[in-house]
Amino acid sequence: MSYQNKRIKNKRSSSKGTRHCRRCGTNKAIIRAYGLDLCRRCFREVAEYIGFRKYS
Ligand SMILES: [Zn+2]
Repeated sequence: MSYQNKRIKNKRSSSKGTRHCRRCGTNKAIIRAYGLDLCRRCFREVAEYIGFRKYS
């Protein structure tokens, strides 16, 4: 597989509209803000580490 083929493949999968959580792999409730690409659940867990705070 050439470099070009690899690029096309990546582009296809990312432009299809289906995003997967890069942590657990689900495609439900993906948060794309700030390039997080995490689902709602993982976002809550990771948020603390990356500086997000809960609204309280
Ligand atoms: Zn997740």
